[in-house]
Amino acid sequence: MTDVKYVFVTGGVTSSLGKGIISASLAKLLQARGYSVTIQKLDPYINVDPGTLNPYEHGECYVTLDGAETDLDLGHYERFLNVPTSQANNVTTGRIYQSVINKERKGDYLGKTVQVIPHITDEIKRRIKLVGSGDKFDIVITEIGGTVGDIESLPYIESVRQLKWELGAQNCIVIHLTLVPYLSSTGESKTKPTQHSVKELLETGIQPDVLVLRTERHLNEDIKRKVALFCNVEEKAVIESVDVSTIYEVPIKMLEQGLDRTVLKKMGLPIETEPPLTEWREFLTKLKNPKHSIKIGLVGKYVELPDAYKSIAESFIHSGALNECAIDVEYIHSEEITENNVTDRLSGFNGVLVAPGFGSRGIDGKILTAKYARENNIPFFGICLGMQCAVIEFARNVLHFEGAHSTEINHKTKYPVIDLMEEQKSVIDKGGTMRLGGYRCIIDKNSKTFEAYRKTEIIERHRHRYEFNNKYYDDFKNRGMVPVGINPESGLVEIIEIPDHKWFVGVQFHPEYSSTVINPHPLFVSFVKACIG
Ligand code: GLN
Repeated sequence: MTDVKYVFVTGGVTSSLGKGIISASLAKLLQARGYSVTIQKLDPYINVDPGTLNPYEHGECYVTLDGAETDLDLGHYERFLNVPTSQANNVTTGRIYQSVINKERKGDYLGKTVQVIPHITDEIKRRIKLVGSGDKFDIVITEIGGTVGDIESLPYIESVRQLKWELGAQNCIVIHLTLVPYLSSTGESKTKPTQHSVKELLETGIQPDVLVLRTERHLNEDIKRKVALFCNVEEKAVIESVDVSTIYEVPIKMLEQGLDRTVLKKMGLPIETEPPLTEWREFLTKLKNPKHSIKIGLVGKYVELPDAYKSIAESFIHSGALNECAIDVEYIHSEEITENNVTDRLSGFNGVLVAPGFGSRGIDGKILTAKYARENNIPFFGICLGMQCAVIEFARNVLHFEGAHSTEINHKTKYPVIDLMEEQKSVIDKGGTMRLGGYRCIIDKNSKTFEAYRKTEIIERHRHRYEFNNKYYDDFKNRGMVPVGINPESGLVEIIEIPDHKWFVGVQFHPEYSSTVINPHPLFVSFVKACIG
């Protein structure tokens, strides 16, 4: 067996250059060449995981099948690779320190001063190697969050330096992603920020093997040669990443420039024929040549930052392409929806989706949206809190349970149609304590959901504390909001539908986390179909 190879992806000049997309694209190409690849993200913040972060801080919190609350980049990895990630694929500084401090308290370092080097860096290296252990992967791609030069990322960079030394140049390569800005006043693309950024990396003892240059405009060969010369990188290893209309185009662009070939060559791995990427290209063709078009209103409260709903947006891209349909998703602030303007605000849409969320802000707008969709026979998709709002609305306006609510918002409500789950009642800590990850669900054959999945047993990912209150099960069922998906172990209601409606589905789980390019999520596919009409 050959050794596991490690590829590190660092970033320079600015944040948000798309290290996650470059990592995922490279992984896709290597996977298409027959290698088993996984991606890991190292995040420099001190939260143990992003589960306690407000989406405004860091975008969506992505949940893995094994119940880890992780960085949204893991979503990209899964969407590109179509392979589930796990807890080990996302590590934060908080988690590293937590392990080291726990070991210190146990006496594992007895007598020693515990320091960033070697103890923190050893723990970082252990976490990196852990992903590569167990013979599962040929190549591990590790993305280092943040920008080179940040105080926070120093221990990570130092760990990469040590690993490169320990494992040898062929087993450990570094791809550095930078920005080449274009100055319109002089009509030039400038390489100086890249040169500085590489110097900064060199100061930490790391010579990058490959440079990926983010740019608005094509870079000519002279510029690439100049970067290669001044940054001490092979000419072939200077790759441009020019802005494209969809992130799913990036693997093709990287293939054209031989990023994967360069990486394989540096690692001493065989380079066989070009991967055809047939399914991927078919997806892109469909995406770019839609036959239909629809408008969907996404009602949520974090709409100022579209990254807060990243997986939902991507799920629409996957399901839109499959249906050969261009989807214009308009983000609507739930706080702006009132009794007076709801018709005006929502009448132009082919379908509405009420987003997940926490707390009371904007809840009334979400409940009004569910009412509007139900009464006007407009396709409605409620996810997690979105489903809970549909239940509350139905209780108030169809069952006439006055003041019905979720106890998350009003713990004194007379009709707690959404209530805290039993096992949550004793929970005090906020981090990692929700009902998280994959749970089974048995689907009623007589439902739209069954038509979508074409199977009766599914596993979907969860992230919530509150739940449909089974005390009212018969009330809902008898009046036309039917629980059609149940967790067999707990009896918890996971899916509700209104059979008399064109398409009205609420799910307690998060289908958006498991939609991929190759496997668009069946519920999104079915919802989009209903919206096309
Ligand atoms: N706040 C709700 C709960 O905890 C819904 C959570 C969500 O939408 N992810 O149950």
